[in-house]
Amino acid sequence: VSCRILIVEDNPANQLLAVAVLERDGFEVRIAESGPDALRAIGESRPDLVLMDIQLPEMDGLSLTRILKADPATATIPVVAMSAHAMVTDRDQAIASGCAGFIAKPIDTRVFADQLRGFLQQPAAAESAS
Ligand code: MN
Repeated sequence: VSCRILIVEDNPANQLLAVAVLERDGFEVRIAESGPDALRAIGESRPDLVLMDIQLPEMDGLSLTRILKADPATATIPVVAMSAHAMVTDRDQAIASGCAGFIAKPIDTRVFADQLRGFLQQPAAAESAS
């Protein structure tokens, strides 16, 4: 079963790198460049995981995460935040906003796919246990 990842990222170089790494690993990848773009994409096709850049135009990634977490239709989709500013406060804010995890940019291409797979397994394990 191929997992569908929505990458919310406005930087073209970061988009290309993440897509290349994840497609090589068998993920199905879609890109959104902004918050409104992401909400449209999620409405059309529910992803298994959202990779969320924190610094975005129009609406920042954590505001967008809070919108997704407040809506029962999207609340269970794991959101993993990405930021170049990997300060402890950024990580804390991401978790407080409802993110399942936090990945510092630049991504480590050797472990990136495994990092995301870890976040995908958590909700599946919880469902089978209940
Ligand atoms: Mn950005």
